[in-house]
Amino acid sequence: GGTLYVVATPIGNLDDLSPRATRTLAHVDVVAAEDTRHSGRLLSHLGIQKRMIALHDHNEKDRAAGILAELKAGRDVALISDAGTPLISDPGYVLVRDARAAGYRVSPIPGPCALVVALSAAGLPTDRFLYVGFLPAKRSGRRASLEPLASEPATLVFYESPHRILESVRDIAEVLGEDREMVLGREITKTFETFYSGSIAEVLAELEQDPHGTRGEFVVMVRGAMAQPGNDDAATMDVDRVLRVLLAELP
Ligand code: SAM
Repeated sequence: GGTLYVVATPIGNLDDLSPRATRTLAHVDVVAAEDTRHSGRLLSHLGIQKRMIALHDHNEKDRAAGILAELKAGRDVALISDAGTPLISDPGYVLVRDARAAGYRVSPIPGPCALVVALSAAGLPTDRFLYVGFLPAKRSGRRASLEPLASEPATLVFYESPHRILESVRDIAEVLGEDREMVLGREITKTFETFYSGSIAEVLAELEQDPHGTRGEFVVMVRGAMAQPGNDDAATMDVDRVLRVLLAELP
């Protein structure tokens, strides 16, 4: 049978496409893409012409069967999404699961993933993080998903679109508390890449002031519940306090 390659593509800067990704796209027989017009432009930019199959969330079950037939016929397939790593808030889960279950080789071609890229530059703890993806579009649903996260000690990572960023950050402030540390990565790897950081209240104020603040794509990161800002400082402060108390007791 053929191999299914899961190929990451850039999240805004074409130079981030790896040579191996390019070689893989040039080598395969079929490219399964979320949006064939969008990905067609990427392929033509690379000078590659391929048969394409559209695979999005609504038709994934049907299309996965067709792609398994390609693999069965011995043809290699590359799965790509509009940006970044497939399956990460993007289609491909059903296809990858079924291809594995059917015994075909599934091989990742790594590259950008907005959540990892954002965490790598945020300066928030990364030893544990919880990727939440997109919050629900409606306020009630959004708050309901945020509530159980209020006590989560891991760094929280969300994706958000420009038209909902303000409402979402406002709800995050209300449910998680506006004093928590937040880092917001906007248009990462693109011309107007910006990182906003501070308390949630400060980041919200900055977003509201910046005329470009609500344009582009966002990764929203929030420090986890137990880990207070500057844990080490807190420990040092404790030692200072203990010392002061002890010194005061001395004759
Ligand atoms: N599969 C992609 C990945 O690997 O990150 C994510 C696809 S998801 C449909 C799109 C969301 O990813 C955007 O709404 C935004 O939250 C985030 N995103 C993608 N590119 C980004 C960028 N250059 N800067 C900030 N966020 C980005």
